[in-house]
Amino acid sequence: MSETMKAAVLHDVHDMRVEQVPKPEISTERDVLVRVRSVGVCGSDVHFFERGVIGKYRLNTPTIMGHEAAGDVVKVLDESCGLQPGDRVAIEPGYTCRRCEFCKSGRYNVCSDVVFLAAPPVHGAFCEYLAWPSDFLFKLPDSVSFDEGAMIEPLAVGLWAAKRGGVEAGDCVAVLGAGPIGLLTLQAASAEGATRIIVSDLEDGRLELAGHFGATDVIDASESDAADTVMELTGGRGVDVAFECAGAVPTLQMAMRVVRDGGTVQLVGMPAEQHPEIPLYEIINRELDVRGLFRYVNCYPPAISLVATNRVRVEPLVTHHFDLDEAPEVMTFVHERRDGVVKAVISP
Ligand SMILES: [Zn+2]
Ligand SMILES: [Zn+2]
Repeated sequence: MSETMKAAVLHDVHDMRVEQVPKPEISTERDVLVRVRSVGVCGSDVHFFERGVIGKYRLNTPTIMGHEAAGDVVKVLDESCGLQPGDRVAIEPGYTCRRCEFCKSGRYNVCSDVVFLAAPPVHGAFCEYLAWPSDFLFKLPDSVSFDEGAMIEPLAVGLWAAKRGGVEAGDCVAVLGAGPIGLLTLQAASAEGATRIIVSDLEDGRLELAGHFGATDVIDASESDAADTVMELTGGRGVDVAFECAGAVPTLQMAMRVVRDGGTVQLVGMPAEQHPEIPLYEIINRELDVRGLFRYVNCYPPAISLVATNRVRVEPLVTHHFDLDEAPEVMTFVHERRDGVVKAVISP
């Protein structure tokens, strides 16, 4: 009988079980076996737990959740891959075909042959071991913890948002929504040179964190018309780049209102409504750039550098720790945002 490992498997909506599953084996020369040490719980894991579907991905077969992971290498078949047992690594959760026009032109995030952790039917990282190709594993310096290594994934999203949004030195930006992705987009925009960073959210605790992370202005959107406030703060001009990080239609509409003429609305969140009302004439007449975003491209190395040099701080985002056995309860804990949770991390 083959070896087994412990994993948190989502069988159906609200039905996650911690059980023994076959331990993965490495077979090709590019594969590396990683002992998973830290995995962040993402909104998408919770969404699968609650709804069983995200966009084109549907839970049709029991699937291990989790895609924000770091661990240490336990086995390699070919040391020329640049990794050896004992190396600590962050795991980029999607590997691609490396052959199509998008992979070759450096836009591998839109490769249609992607294999992405915890995107059913591909198993994720709420488990003890992962077999993963070496070119999507990135060594962590000793100064970067496993928890920080797991946070490289959401940071990669924030960094890609800042890059896609075209943030330039001296820019004034707005980050609408201060969940984990918003807080990391804020820090990434700062690292890219934004000097004025206005953040809005409905939760005090998150706005406080935004202040710690370098927001120059925070707006409690539950108390005032946040769009009016942004316009006042910018003397009626608006911001160079507005990041929609809440995944909600009102914040998307707000982003359109607070961006300056000729500015960029960078979509980061994923609203549930597929056909929201959008002011088309504003986009045309004010020449707005409204840009999509899907995951990230080549963001792991710079994200790791930013954390290693303390230019971006991810540790304060990790507010709660759990064992793998607790994974099913953690889904509900995060869904209900209990105890002010920002990011929960599971240690398998
Ligand atoms: Zn995620
Ligand atoms: Zn490809």
